[in-house]
Amino acid sequence: EKIRLGIIYGGKSSEHEVSLRTALSIMKAVDANKYEVTPIYVQLDGSWVKGEALAGQLPETIDALRLTAGAQSPNQPAAAGQELITASKPASMFSIGQQVDVVFPVVHGPNGEDGTIQGLLELANLPYVGTGVMASAVGMDKWMMKTVFAQVGLPQVKYVGLLRSQWEKSPEEVAEKIERELGYPCFVKPANMGSSVGISKAKNREELVQALNLAARFDRRLIVEEFVQARELEIGVLGNEELMTSVVGEIIAAKEFYDYEAKYKGAGTELSIPAAIPAHVAEGIADIAKKAFQALDGSGLSRVDFFWDEKNDKLYINEVNTMPGFTPFSMYPMLFQAAGISYSELIDRLVQLALERHADKQ
Ligand code: ATP
Ligand code: MG
Ligand code: MG
Ligand code: MG
Repeated sequence: EKIRLGIIYGGKSSEHEVSLRTALSIMKAVDANKYEVTPIYVQLDGSWVKGEALAGQLPETIDALRLTAGAQSPNQPAAAGQELITASKPASMFSIGQQVDVVFPVVHGPNGEDGTIQGLLELANLPYVGTGVMASAVGMDKWMMKTVFAQVGLPQVKYVGLLRSQWEKSPEEVAEKIERELGYPCFVKPANMGSSVGISKAKNREELVQALNLAARFDRRLIVEEFVQARELEIGVLGNEELMTSVVGEIIAAKEFYDYEAKYKGAGTELSIPAAIPAHVAEGIADIAKKAFQALDGSGLSRVDFFWDEKNDKLYINEVNTMPGFTPFSMYPMLFQAAGISYSELIDRLVQLALERHADKQ
C-alpha cells in the first residue's frame, strides 16, 4: 500500500516561489514505490487547485508544477476536470480527506506556517507534517514568540514590539522610545513574515522612519530589535516529544545581513556545516533549541536561529521557523544530511511523525 501524500504549496504570500521550489524538491525526492503524491496548489490570489495523483511523471520546473496542480497561469482558475477549492469554499478541503492519507503543507509565511492551514487540516481530521496550530501561530509572530521565550527565560536580544497604528499615530514618541531602549543600529521587522521580507537595518532616525514604514506595509504588528554584532548559527530540531537535534550550521553572509537576495539568489552567502564553533556553544544551542521547541509545543520540524557574540561568548535565540526552507540545498535538510539523515529519509521520518502525532491526538 502506497502512502497517499498531499503536498500543499504556493500560497498568498511573499514566499510563494520559495514554497514552489520546496514542493518540487519533495516530489522529486520521495520514493515512487512508497508514495503517491497529490499536488495541491494555493494560487497567488488565494484560491486552491488540486491536481490528479502523480503516478511517476513529475513536473520539471516550478511553472510545470503550477500546471500539474491545474493552474493555467499563475492566477487562473482551474482547468476543466480539476477541482477548484477557494477560500469561500473551505468545505472542499474535506473532500481531499478521502483522497490523501497525510498532508505535507509547505506554504511559508502568513496563511501557511501560521496555523491557518494547520487548523483547516485539523478540522478535516487529516494527519499533516510539522507543527500544530498553536506552535505554528506563535512561531509565526515574532512578537508573541519573544514573549514566550522571555517567559521561559531564554536569552534574546532587547526588543520593542509595536502596532502599525501606534507608529502612524505617534511617530515621534515611538522613535524616541526605540532610541532610548535600543539605540542604533537596530533591526526593524514585520512580526509575521520570513525570508527577511520587509526587514531592514536602521542606523539613524531617517533610516528608522523608512524601515518602520516598510515593515508596516507587510504587517500591523512590528518588532524592532537591538543590533548584535554576532555570528549567525542555526540548528534543526526533529521529532514530536522525543527530540533530535542536527549539527549546527553557520551563515556567512557577504552582504550587510542575510537578506532575501542572499537567501535565494545565493548572492555571496556561504553555509558552513558544521559550524566551526567550540563544543560548549554547540551544546548551548542544542539545549536552547529544544527548550524553545518545547515552549511552543512544536512537532515534526523546526529550524532554530541564533546569534553568537563570540567576543563575549553570549548566545541569543533569534527565532524558531516552523516551516523552514526545505529544498535539498536549504539549511534545515543540509544540517540533517550532515547528521546522517538524507533528504528522502528526512521526508519519510516527517511523514511518520505526522502519522504518530495524529494517532496520539485521538
Ligand atoms: P527566516 O525566517 O528566513 O530565517 P526572517 O524573515 O524570519 O528570516 P530574521 O531571521 O529575524 O528574519 O532576520 C533576517 C536576518 O537579518 C538574519 O538572518 C540576520 O542576518 C539579520 N538580523 C536579524 N535580526 C538581527 C539582529 N537583531 N542583529 C543583527 N542581525 C540581525
Ligand atoms: Mg523566520
Ligand atoms: Mg520563515
Ligand atoms: Mg531567521
